[in-house]
Amino acid sequence: MVIPVSCVICDSSAFREAPNRPYAFCKSCGAAERTRYLWLYLNHEKPLRNGMVVLHCAPEKAVSAKLKATIGPGYRPADFEPNRYETTSVEVEKFDLTDLSGVADGEFDAVMHLHVLEHLYAPLDSIFRETMRVIRPGGRFIFGLPISSGISFENIWPDATPEERLKLFGQHDHVRLVGRDDFPRFLARVLAPFSDQTDFRVDPAKIADADTFFRKTGITVARAAGYTGDTIFDVRKTIAV
Ligand SMILES: [Zn+2]
Repeated sequence: MVIPVSCVICDSSAFREAPNRPYAFCKSCGAAERTRYLWLYLNHEKPLRNGMVVLHCAPEKAVSAKLKATIGPGYRPADFEPNRYETTSVEVEKFDLTDLSGVADGEFDAVMHLHVLEHLYAPLDSIFRETMRVIRPGGRFIFGLPISSGISFENIWPDATPEERLKLFGQHDHVRLVGRDDFPRFLARVLAPFSDQTDFRVDPAKIADADTFFRKTGITVARAAGYTGDTIFDVRKTIAV
């Protein structure tokens, strides 16, 4: 049985494919599978509400205006290179996730980004600790990142050439590979001071049955539930530090 796929964000059923990804990008709104999954999750869980202060880094164009309408003036779309968003309808501020020294403890109700962490020239430990610091107790850190087989390795020094990074990490502007063999332990260790959760992954089976999930996102429940580039992590800060 062929399950018809349509975009959960804009309802289009036309997609642009990528290798091994028949429904990679919505032809209408441009959303990748992971963006459609994020939207499905946000609509199901409703963690972001009107009146909150939400930092959304590398804001996906397909959802940023919708999020602004939902959240209101506290929605803060941000990027290290805001000039990449000239065609986006929301104004994107410059923001450096590797230096949060000017950001107060608990400033945000939520921080959210997909596929940003693999670009950042700073140790992942400090990025996670600092991100959790600037989220208020009760707030959330919602994120996703590319995850590969094996163990993680990185080169966060700016001496490697784009060609070397392509060879090492599969993309010219990536500085690390995050491996599924050690990433769960890394998360448990670095997030232990902030949360009493034992698993930080969103379970897509709790959002929709497998057919519905596929129909709305173009990805299988199994792919989204494991440790992959489509997995969404939702860390709830339960411990005040
Ligand atoms: Zn769409």
